[in-house]
Amino acid sequence: MALTGEDGDAEVKIPWTGFDLINAFNAWKKSEDAGRRFVVDVSGAAKLEATGLAWRTEVSAQVFEEAVVDLGKALKAWTASRRGKRAGRVVGHPRFKKKNVERGSFRMRNKVSKTKTGERATIRLGENGPRSVTLPGIGAIRVHDDTRRLRRMLASGRARVLFATVSRRGGRWRISLNVQAADVHPAARHKPRGKADHAGWAGVDRGLHVPVVAAGADGSEVLRVATAPKALRSAQPVTRRLQKSVSRKAKGSASRRAAVRRLARHHERVRARRHHFLHQVSNALVKTHDRLVIEDLNITGMLANHRLAAAISDAAWGELARQVTYKQSWRGGQVLIADRWFPSSKTCSGCGDVNQALTLANRVFHCEHCGLALDRDLNAAVNLAAWGEQHYLSQVLDPEARGQVTNAHRREGSGRRARADETSPDDVGTLTASAA
Ligand SMILES: [Zn+2]
Repeated sequence: MALTGEDGDAEVKIPWTGFDLINAFNAWKKSEDAGRRFVVDVSGAAKLEATGLAWRTEVSAQVFEEAVVDLGKALKAWTASRRGKRAGRVVGHPRFKKKNVERGSFRMRNKVSKTKTGERATIRLGENGPRSVTLPGIGAIRVHDDTRRLRRMLASGRARVLFATVSRRGGRWRISLNVQAADVHPAARHKPRGKADHAGWAGVDRGLHVPVVAAGADGSEVLRVATAPKALRSAQPVTRRLQKSVSRKAKGSASRRAAVRRLARHHERVRARRHHFLHQVSNALVKTHDRLVIEDLNITGMLANHRLAAAISDAAWGELARQVTYKQSWRGGQVLIADRWFPSSKTCSGCGDVNQALTLANRVFHCEHCGLALDRDLNAAVNLAAWGEQHYLSQVLDPEARGQVTNAHRREGSGRRARADETSPDDVGTLTASAA
């Protein structure tokens, strides 16, 4: 299509917006290029007839439209990246999804139309019992979870559904609803702090033996998650057994496919358990503290020693950081990402002396300078909290200072959420309905 033009002259304007692409696609899907079939007439002579995309009527048009919107975005990011007009990582050319490799998914918009009796949305909840979601072109689907909480919010105008994404992972279909919701109830939000107030930071350390330790700058431990859930620890032998089972089966055989499905389902279960655990930890952190300091992911990656099974993998740490950041923004708190070169483990939280000789085997931090002896992870968490306080001070005094603060105090009218009413604390949560 228009893709070839963009490679050459940058001055040539190519229609790459979602709108142009959908028009191009709509023309293509009915054309001969999209599909032909043999038609045999009465005399027995066969000829080719243009059918277009044969299955196009089985799929809601929105599925195509949303895919094209994504393609438009991806192409735009790619060209911007190539011309150096885009910050961040280099963006590659969009690739086709592979049927057996990528996670299958599609997205639908929620269209709301006015009727005589009120409004009617194309994505509806609870139409066929409390555990159901109605999607355009598909109809009412039974889902695993009760949709009552969200229905209550929708009915009172405190939320509206923007998109539904249907995806398949580990042999299960799931529907994720993208919802625009009102602000969290003031009772569940942190009290705003004055700009000069630099105190109250809590450092969150990810330990190799202890998953999470959080502490204040004064040395007080505020949270310690001593061990990862047993469900996560016991998953490893099962993973190994199922992997072996796959590798023993002949390639391309039906039994291998079944073994692959079993392994995928197992991975999915472990993933769900891990997410549940991370939600518990992130909730505990954001409920009790309005100011958190988290380590940059890279430093933890650097320290990772493969001979030691990390209680939380890098991926889980990234997920925890993501959860803490968005949950904190809902509550009007702040999250600070510590400089990746900050030696949180090797610094003495008492006197600031850096002990380069500290190894991973040292469970207790001993300071040769001031004689402090403190649990290794607690020491690191205290250092992070102190770093947050210092960093905040230097930022207020010198706004040019480096560092990344997620200041979650939302300005009036900013963000994507409507202010129809306040969301009650009870409404806060991530709702993912998985198909039964
Ligand atoms: Zn010391």
